[in-house]
Amino acid sequence: MSNPAPLEAGALHPEALASYWMPFTANRQFKAAPRMMARAEGMHYWTPEGRRILDGFSGLWCCNAGHSRKPVVEAIQRQAATLDYAPAFQMGHPLAFELADRIAAMAPAGLNRVFFCNSGSEAVDTALKVALAYQRLRGEGSRTRLIGRERGYHGVGFGGISVGGMVANRKMFGAMLAGVDHLPHTHSLEKNAFSRGEPEWGAHLADELERLIALHDASTIAAVIVEPMAGSTGVLLPPRGYLQRLREITAKHGILLIFDEVITAFGRLGHAFAAQRYGVTPDMITFAKGVTSGTVPMGGVLVRSDIHDAFMRGPPWAIELFHGYTYSGHPLACAAGIATLDLYRDEGLFERARAMAPVLEDAVHSLRASPHVIDIRNGGLAAAIELEPRPGAPLARAFDAYLGCWERGLLVRQAGEIVCLAPALIVEESQIAKMTGTLREVLLQLA
Ligand code: PLP
Repeated sequence: MSNPAPLEAGALHPEALASYWMPFTANRQFKAAPRMMARAEGMHYWTPEGRRILDGFSGLWCCNAGHSRKPVVEAIQRQAATLDYAPAFQMGHPLAFELADRIAAMAPAGLNRVFFCNSGSEAVDTALKVALAYQRLRGEGSRTRLIGRERGYHGVGFGGISVGGMVANRKMFGAMLAGVDHLPHTHSLEKNAFSRGEPEWGAHLADELERLIALHDASTIAAVIVEPMAGSTGVLLPPRGYLQRLREITAKHGILLIFDEVITAFGRLGHAFAAQRYGVTPDMITFAKGVTSGTVPMGGVLVRSDIHDAFMRGPPWAIELFHGYTYSGHPLACAAGIATLDLYRDEGLFERARAMAPVLEDAVHSLRASPHVIDIRNGGLAAAIELEPRPGAPLARAFDAYLGCWERGLLVRQAGEIVCLAPALIVEESQIAKMTGTLREVLLQLA
């Protein structure tokens, strides 16, 4: 039998979409009215029907350099034709070492060892495992507890959902990791609504860590993990002084501090890392997404050198850390990563993000008087518009806003009752104006 003719993407019917179980998607709604992408370049996507979509969300917080950038595309193509794969265990290839060096050189001082994996979720699990093992290696094996935060998102591995603070991501999956506790989140509409940048109120919420330490005892706690800016629960900026307080308390009690920078690393807040934006250096940083501008899956963990060195013991032929992935430091990802970092540097994209941040801030805050808006937040090239929930239909209003934008040629992201923008660092002023113009129109027409 000959192969069936390729599907006409524009004419897909629900049965043609049945096999693929889509992640974090309303599958039935999508398959009844698919939203497909066929091509991307710069700040835009094109649908299979040729409709142009302005990308207001860097794909999914990841295509920070813009789409299908030529130097990155060519680096991936070259690499695929030169060395498609090299075994990750007990073997190496030069690009992995080069990329690790490049990332370490951009990181806060002292964070200069890099462990590669393939996603943010894997980066989080890696960091949590390194924290537990390190505490044991330094003779603090009773430190097995991990502390996350409400409204935190750390991916979907069992480690990540355990320390994460999103109920829908947790409630179906049993007991998860034992011995996890959570800090309170820092979001307060009452105190901080319509803050520009980091809110004034809330640094004292870091002191809740002292309460958890008093409850569990520091000798049982290995690490605290937080996103410096919580992205997936709707752009929650850290209150002024909050991260400094967390740093002081963790240092005082021998607890490791992990910043999950899967979203914030590589320019989102106008710096290579949010740690630099906030002047707070954690003990480990997770990254993913922007490291390859979303082109090839890659994640990783930046680790303080003395934490790494604590593992370098035993006979020289002994494996020091029983952890890793078949695709750790994959050649295509490394080639994409190096080319992406070159682009960030050569085009001054982090500086550009810093320069465009006030433009985005002014643009989104101009939506304050639009219907249903109960909060607007922004930091770097990220912004969120929180809507009043539609009575009796939670999440429906923000979903309708998301669909309304899509119909008008704009990709945004819905996070609960919140609509988020996070454009690529190459975004133009006129494109930001178009994004907020579309949002204004959509909000006016929302029920
Ligand atoms: N950590 C944070 C802070 C994230 O925002 C994300 C994804 O958005 C993840 C981890 C998970 O990354 P991935 O989807 O690549 O596993």
